[in-house]
Amino acid sequence: MPLHFDLHSHSLASDGTLAPTELVTAAHFAGVDVLALTDHDTTEGIAEAATSADSLGMQLAPGVEISVTWRAGTVHILGLGIDPGCEILQAGLVELRAFRDWRAVEIGRRLACAGIPGCYSGARLLAQGNIVSRTHFAHHLVACGHAASVRDVFKRFLIKNKPGHVPGSWAQLEAALSWIAAAGGIAVIAHPARYSMTASKLRSLIGEFRECGGSAIEVVSGSHTRDDITAMAALSRREKLLASCGSDYHGPENPWVRLGELAEIPAGCRPVWESEHWPQPDGCRQYTRNHS
Ligand code: AMP
Ligand code: MN
Ligand code: MN
Ligand code: MN
Repeated sequence: MPLHFDLHSHSLASDGTLAPTELVTAAHFAGVDVLALTDHDTTEGIAEAATSADSLGMQLAPGVEISVTWRAGTVHILGLGIDPGCEILQAGLVELRAFRDWRAVEIGRRLACAGIPGCYSGARLLAQGNIVSRTHFAHHLVACGHAASVRDVFKRFLIKNKPGHVPGSWAQLEAALSWIAAAGGIAVIAHPARYSMTASKLRSLIGEFRECGGSAIEVVSGSHTRDDITAMAALSRREKLLASCGSDYHGPENPWVRLGELAEIPAGCRPVWESEHWPQPDGCRQYTRNHS
């Protein structure tokens, strides 16, 4: 039986709604053999997730989803198989969280100016880990009746030209890739079809990503349509990039994205776990021993 991989997921350590143990248990019951925990800009949940995975006989690939600013837009780069104890990686993530903290206060200030006070403290209360995400603001605004859904909040309040939008810079692409390399991980462009880039802009991103040492794209994602998967598989084959697959699960509140329920990586793509750099199960256990 081939192993069942889900290489993109979130816990309460970032903007997911399940604790790492609950997430790993849910993945186990969904038939996942290898789960990557890839919280935004933090590895805080990995030690707990790795311990739970060990006790269930599952493999946990330690990961992170790094926020990157590229050509005035945001792209997400996954680091898979990283060593969370790597000081270079952690120093980079500390910087990103400092920007996040400043941005969260600023989002709250701007929403207050627009007539909705108390959002910063509301979002802060919902954030149980060490990052505050726009998702926490969205959940707060829905709970207070300012919008019907999280999607609605983003559309009305949190994207460009809306009252709670805050411009600013995340990591540079080159820096993010250097942190992932220092931590021994494989860099993956997350959900590439979601950025609504033209084909030529996406090729430029891939070109720069490759120059910085990147080697994989997420072909199968919970936020890709069937057509997106076909297009990204063609790109992966043409550009000779390893192919990854991940649900981008954030919790049971979003019924459209289920753990482990992923389309197969299309034929002719080389899965990321066939890379010689892919962490072997023993390596994963070692991370638990060293860093929990
Ligand atoms: P942040 O990193 O704090 O800017 O928040 C980004 C997160 O917000 C993403 O990882 C998604 O989980 C969520 N998100 C972004 N856009 C949307 C949207 N249109 N609808 C729902 N969630 C979104
Ligand atoms: Mn998220
Ligand atoms: Mn993402
Ligand atoms: Mn994600």
